[in-house]
Amino acid sequence: MKAKLTVLGSGTSMGVPTIGCDCAVCHSADSHDRRTRPSIMVEYGGHFVLIDTTPDFREQAIREGIQTVDAVLYTHTHADHILGIDDLRPISFHRPEKIPLYARPEAVEVLRSMFRYIFDADYKFGGIARVELKNIDGPIELFGARFDPITVVHGDTEIYGYRFGSAAYLTDFSDIPTSSMTQLGGLDILFLDALRHKPHPTHSTVENSLRIVQQLKPKRAFFTHICHDLPHAETNASLPPDVRLSYDGMKLEFEI
Ligand SMILES: [Zn+2]
Ligand SMILES: [Zn+2]
Repeated sequence: MKAKLTVLGSGTSMGVPTIGCDCAVCHSADSHDRRTRPSIMVEYGGHFVLIDTTPDFREQAIREGIQTVDAVLYTHTHADHILGIDDLRPISFHRPEKIPLYARPEAVEVLRSMFRYIFDADYKFGGIARVELKNIDGPIELFGARFDPITVVHGDTEIYGYRFGSAAYLTDFSDIPTSSMTQLGGLDILFLDALRHKPHPTHSTVENSLRIVQQLKPKRAFFTHICHDLPHAETNASLPPDVRLSYDGMKLEFEI
């Protein structure tokens, strides 16, 4: 079935512009150089699935006119991917069922302890998000579409990316194990981490991600989790035509 992917945020953990930074990208007049924290929305058959809820989720949801979220898939529990969880509240209040939040089993435990006021059954003052945690450790079906967790290495931890139909979203990785590479063949759209040019212990670089694109050969590839080292227009001009920097608000169609 037809699906639409919306880039809610394309920036690294500190966002671009970065607080207090004097650099040219942080002061750029090009709106593509304004990057909120990294997340996407996948829309198909009238359903809306988010990957991560960033500290910028409120702003992203208002910008994109989001009224419904049917499920959230978490990649990992770093602050830039989860801190918007509370802004699911207004969306969760007028739904009959709680919004399911899927994460790796150890990430579920981190979320449960970080947000005890949400998941603690004794909280009796109301006003909390109507959400429930669910483990994901293999493929799941959501509203008629299959989502496969893809294990990637992020510094010294393993986290998830996701494949859904002909698209995959891999934010935050320094390495992709061979067993995961075999799950990423035949893609129309591949999103992948490309923080900057300079090496980083927990993130991929432009050069490394270009190598991965050459190996996987998706029809089109889009970089995300981008820091202020990469000016949008100038960087795009240096990339092959089938590889682009993503940007906040970018929309793509694909088959799920
Ligand atoms: Zn991140
Ligand atoms: Zn991270």
